[in-house]
Amino acid sequence: IWGQAREELQKIVGADSFTTWIEPLKLTEVDEGTAFIASPTRFLSDWVSRHYSDEILKVLDRLGAPVHRLSFETRSQPSRPAQAAAPEEPRRAAPRAAAAEEELAAPLDQRFTFDNFVVGKPNELAHAAARRVAEGGPVTFNPLFLYGGVGLGKTHLMHAIARETQLRQPDARVLYLSAEQFMYRFVQALRDRTVMDFKELFRTVSVLMVDDVQFIAGKDSTQEEFFHTFNTLVDQGKQIVISADRAPGEIKDMEERIKSRLQCGLVVDLHPTDYELRLGILQSKTDSFRVQYPGLQLAPGVLEFLAHRITSNVRVLEGALQRLFAFASLMGREITLDMTQECLADILRANDRKVSIEEIQRKVAEHYNVRLSDLIGPKRVRTVARPRQIAMYLAKQMTSRSLPEIGRRFGGRDHTTIMHGVKKIEELRSADRSLAEDIDLLRRLLEA
Ligand code: ADP
Ligand code: MG
Repeated sequence: IWGQAREELQKIVGADSFTTWIEPLKLTEVDEGTAFIASPTRFLSDWVSRHYSDEILKVLDRLGAPVHRLSFETRSQPSRPAQAAAPEEPRRAAPRAAAAEEELAAPLDQRFTFDNFVVGKPNELAHAAARRVAEGGPVTFNPLFLYGGVGLGKTHLMHAIARETQLRQPDARVLYLSAEQFMYRFVQALRDRTVMDFKELFRTVSVLMVDDVQFIAGKDSTQEEFFHTFNTLVDQGKQIVISADRAPGEIKDMEERIKSRLQCGLVVDLHPTDYELRLGILQSKTDSFRVQYPGLQLAPGVLEFLAHRITSNVRVLEGALQRLFAFASLMGREITLDMTQECLADILRANDRKVSIEEIQRKVAEHYNVRLSDLIGPKRVRTVARPRQIAMYLAKQMTSRSLPEIGRRFGGRDHTTIMHGVKKIEELRSADRSLAEDIDLLRRLLEA
């Protein structure tokens, strides 16, 4: 049931929150309406019970488990009795700073290592900088600021730095946490009047890593505290690594002085993936899936197809491959192109590049050297009418617009006119090779 519940919860809370908060949890047993959940740290159970109790209860209920209360147990401290985490739970005493440190750091993902990070043009700079920081030695880039869109590997690189630093310098105190966790801890310290402990904790780390710092934009007192922590550590020559979804200067509602401090080290971005990088990542993930699903056959061309078609981000790419392998192993079949298209139809559709009718009209007019106004207008001469029909055909093929809608964009033509045009081109296409090639070329230009 927990497996199913986790899937549901991932849909509800989103992949990122899921990985941070829910994934590390285990359902140990259900007894008389209480679900016992094991958590690696008390910090985690605390956060989850405050923010996700309702969702967890609802999902368990929907899956047929008669649960009305959650009880969290911290696995690393088995001697402590299970702690009730219902909303009426009395507030616990603030943990001592030393004990809190364990709980403060977010758990590192085992898979996020340098070894598992595939390097390509779009991320080579970020990777090199991350490596350099992880090697330790004199602090050269401080802070290292990594930024880039969702799912491009920021968190992966940060975990890799944390792990590598810890390996090379076992005595170093590496603290990795999301900006969200930073804020949560800070607010909790304010509430519990333990701000001094909180400050102390941060000021004794050797490497501080804060992920998704854009999260604290607009949160004034948290920003302020972050700024002080940041300055103190930099002044002491401690390494800081920050990530965000955009460049420091672009973060809205962030104080200028903080932005400028964030920029004073090395700022590197992770670019959107290119075809080669996506293929490399797919190959590397395939190698690890082969261990998990031994004996599975993969037809040639499948990975290339995926690298072409799924361009949004690496997380989606990984999810697609994962689903494909699971599906194939369940069906006991070879992974073919057909199966791929069938099994991943929704993801492929979402990754279709959206082409507008206007773009199609512009490209077609340009290609056949006719005026855009003529292409849409009433002229009936063949040199204009044929390109117009081609544009209608492409509009029908490449967009999800209905015939009446397409008619409206072609100077208010009737949907039967559009249908006729589309039919005509379909007929000609199979007879006229050069026309078919023309259309393919146009389509490729529009998809690029
Ligand atoms: P971000 O934090 O930038 O949103 P993540 O670091 O969480 O992205 O990456 C999303 C997923 O994609 C993770 O599972 C990560 O391991 C994977 N990933 C991203 N880039 C790479 C890469 N270059 N090589 C291997 N895996 C990658
Ligand atoms: Mg991330």
